[in-house]
Amino acid sequence: MVYFVGAGPGATDLITVRGMELLKKADLVIYAGSLLNPELLGYCPAHTTVMNSASMTLEEVIAAIAACAPNSHIVRLHTGDPSIYGAIREQMDRLDALDIAYTVVPGVSSFCGAAASIQAEYTLPSVSQTVIISRMEGRTPVPQKESIRSLAAHQATMVLFLSAGMLENLCAELMAGGYPPETPVAVVYKATWPDEEIVRGTLQTVPELASHIQQTALVLVGEFLGDEYERSKLYDPSFSHACREAKV
Ligand code: SAH
Repeated sequence: MVYFVGAGPGATDLITVRGMELLKKADLVIYAGSLLNPELLGYCPAHTTVMNSASMTLEEVIAAIAACAPNSHIVRLHTGDPSIYGAIREQMDRLDALDIAYTVVPGVSSFCGAAASIQAEYTLPSVSQTVIISRMEGRTPVPQKESIRSLAAHQATMVLFLSAGMLENLCAELMAGGYPPETPVAVVYKATWPDEEIVRGTLQTVPELASHIQQTALVLVGEFLGDEYERSKLYDPSFSHACREAKV
């Protein structure tokens, strides 16, 4: 059995209990070494074979899995949650073709870790009820209909992965799409790691303020970072819902 496990954003106690238990039983762990906190491998027993996928191709990863004895317990460890820029679909399709069984164990995505680090809520009443997760086009193309400029037109909360090294371009595109230049931005580097760093600014100021941050960072954009919002209906005394009658 192969377990695709989300390792969480970095802190070793932010992997799920299920993920940790699977690491404790692993015969083989193939981990995404470029981003993953290596201390997580401390959960593995002494007999575990550990491979870093950073220098491997998809074919080599699948070959390493296929070479294991039939009843081996294999963990494919991805950062954050595997469903976000995890490149797991292509692995699952190849395992299907080889008739190798697998399951997916979710993880805390870095975009949740980053919100916790800056103590923010992405979905504030009357500010934004939508979170757009995207990335700038780099060597990986982004479909034209999802250009940053077109997504920016919503002025919703935006979380940009894989884009910290292109901050100047990114902010220019966000402004060209409709966000005012004074829109607040937070760049969160290595959220939940011991060397986490947070840089706050606006679309206009942040490219310079965060120019030293090139990777392993998220760019969070929107008025959810500001101070204006309405209180929620859920906890409003004058609002009734399935679990509570209005009190006034
Ligand atoms: N599956 C992962 C994302 C992998 S893509 C997840 O759910 O978080 C890799 C990108 O994720 C990085 O370039 C960076 O933008 C972001 N990232 C991953 N871990 C991060 C962290 N601890 N802090 C900030 N950004 C992080």
